[in-house]
Amino acid sequence: MPLCTLREVLDHARAGGYGVGAFNVTDAEQVEAVLEAARRTGSPVIVQTISGASAFASDELYWDLLLRTVDHYDDVPVVVHLDHGPDAQTCFRAIDAGFSSVMIDGSLDPVTHQPTTFDANIEVTREVVAYARRHGVSVEGELGTIGGSKDGATHAEIVLADPEEAAEFVARTDVDALAVAIGTSHGAYKFTSPPDSSVLHMDLIEEIARLIPTTHLVMHGSSSLPADLREIINAHGGGLPESWGVPEVEKARSTQLGVTKINQGMDSHMAYAAAMRTTMAGDPLAADPAPAARAGSAAMADMIAERMAVFGQAGRARDYAPRVFRSPAALPL
Ligand SMILES: [Zn+2]
Repeated sequence: MPLCTLREVLDHARAGGYGVGAFNVTDAEQVEAVLEAARRTGSPVIVQTISGASAFASDELYWDLLLRTVDHYDDVPVVVHLDHGPDAQTCFRAIDAGFSSVMIDGSLDPVTHQPTTFDANIEVTREVVAYARRHGVSVEGELGTIGGSKDGATHAEIVLADPEEAAEFVARTDVDALAVAIGTSHGAYKFTSPPDSSVLHMDLIEEIARLIPTTHLVMHGSSSLPADLREIINAHGGGLPESWGVPEVEKARSTQLGVTKINQGMDSHMAYAAAMRTTMAGDPLAADPAPAARAGSAAMADMIAERMAVFGQAGRARDYAPRVFRSPAALPL
């Protein structure tokens, strides 16, 4: 099966009334974990990565490995998506490498990490959409500011998305999907208590979805930060502070309000790290890191398979007809 575009996968999700998890990867074993979980549960899936997030010397080297791994899963409908492209050039590089979807995060200045103007966001997003359209690639934009840390750089306070601005943004950019800030934040530290409606503005999703019914809404920073994983990590040398994320029930509810793409980075990384730390601690003579990575990948696949059931994408690979080519560049425009 060829790569799917984000538009195709999320259109299926909206028609079927479910959400699709977008899982962040930073090494080869994590790519395998996401794809194994998708194959096991019969799910369409979005594999996403942030520029510079891997340990490889260049994005191109890591991206090539990622795309070649995806080729081994030609029974799985897969979107390969650039998460939080900081500028147009990074998005162009991902499209040239063979990604089928990119996010341009024009809400923050790539250098200062401060919010940009509405018009500056629109300008850079339009530039990316124009290039992406020529290559049959989907585009996600961002409006408002989702707080916390996404790539190690901590940036601005949360600025909630404005529904009227969302409608204008979509009309002027023609993005396929829009990340809307509704109170979630990135990273391993989110809320100091279980979030309620004063923190998590689910009503905003409904309001925005009503104004832009053909654009897909994306929930960022939606990890739930499982306490049991935090305890395992901390019992093996970690020091994660107590924190609450987005409860599973809220994620499932968001898919009924208009969200079709649910970003999850931290939860699956916590599952991976907890299993790695446990495995390494269990064999003080181990020097080869592969057994720990293998355990990490298996734990991450299990966690993602569970989430696929919660989001509703499990079993929905049946929505897709088999195809004969893989490269998004070969897709008709
Ligand atoms: Zn994000």
